[in-house]
Amino acid sequence: MSRLFNFSAGPAMLPIDVLEQAQKELLDWQGTGMSVMEMSHRGKEFMSIAQQAEADLRDLMAIPDNYKVLFLQGGASSQFSLIPMNLASNSQKAAYLVTGSWSKKAVAEAKKICAVDVLVDTSDVEFSLAPDENSYSIADDYAYFHYTPNETIQGVEFPYVPDSGSVPLVADMSSTILSRAIDVSRFAVIYAGAQKNIGPAGLTLVIIREDLLARCSDKLPSMFNYKVLADAESMYNTPSTYAWYFAGLVFMWLKKQGGVAGMGKRNQAKAEKLYKVIDDSDFYANPVRVCDRSWMNVPFTLADASMDVAFLEQAKTKNLVTLKGHRSVGGMRASIYNAMPEQGIDDLVSFMQEFEQQNLK
Ligand SMILES: *Cc1c(COP(=O)(O)O)cnc(C)c1O
Repeated sequence: MSRLFNFSAGPAMLPIDVLEQAQKELLDWQGTGMSVMEMSHRGKEFMSIAQQAEADLRDLMAIPDNYKVLFLQGGASSQFSLIPMNLASNSQKAAYLVTGSWSKKAVAEAKKICAVDVLVDTSDVEFSLAPDENSYSIADDYAYFHYTPNETIQGVEFPYVPDSGSVPLVADMSSTILSRAIDVSRFAVIYAGAQKNIGPAGLTLVIIREDLLARCSDKLPSMFNYKVLADAESMYNTPSTYAWYFAGLVFMWLKKQGGVAGMGKRNQAKAEKLYKVIDDSDFYANPVRVCDRSWMNVPFTLADASMDVAFLEQAKTKNLVTLKGHRSVGGMRASIYNAMPEQGIDDLVSFMQEFEQQNLK
């Protein structure tokens, strides 16, 4: 069996150790004679799995006690609607930054629910940077302030956490959660689909400061109400049990890797290696302002786009796959989340240099 280095933006690679452990436990979880997939979500076995996963995540991210951690379904895309439904119920306006494709989508969904002010929109510079910290100000009467710390498609990552003052700070961390240490207490809500840095698709994490639950209106459908979901410990209905279990295995794995601080060091080194090859050549280019470059998603173009197909085909012969850029931006994109081994970067870098040598005119 040969495992590929898969640079997909999501669903993405998972740690081999975790896949093997899940395989070992697939038919019979710890002598119960059952697969985790077959267990009641309310039985003591699954409850212990769920609680351990939450405890490990709290430990990894140093989540303060006054935050709830929800293990939901529906993806980050559902949160684009649930955030305004729950937090802007008293017809207050919400403030957003538009810095790439995902924040643009978040705004489009929020506008269906509440009034939105877009404080900055970097589409005029083709989403090639994160706005400077002092280039916008956030008035204190907004219901919340939303931004996307890492724009997965454009490869733009904020090098700072915005200071939103007394306005609750909401972040779509789908493609950056657990990739480095952050101070959770700066945020009111953090949400993330699992399929990039957490585990299998089908699970969505929402980390929410408890005082915000008071805003959730009783009129909301129960499944869309953060307070109902929090009060039910994410078990108002049947949760995505297997994905929850699998995420728990990933959390244990992360702890063994030195936690998020250890991951952060590795991720930075991995990203720098790749950007160096791009910057050292006239053949490859990355359009993002250097200080705002993502550690997780590295888009790059070839000097001549007619070589894209050959690049992808030859990369595949080296076990390097899913490097095609998003259809909206073209070129290439290497997504290098926590589970992408250093060897994957080294092989990609060698291949890129080789391809450049062969094709430089
Ligand atoms: C992938 C992604 C999404 C969409 O996630 P789903 O779980 O598919 O809904 C939203 N925001 C960001 C930043 C993403 O990377």
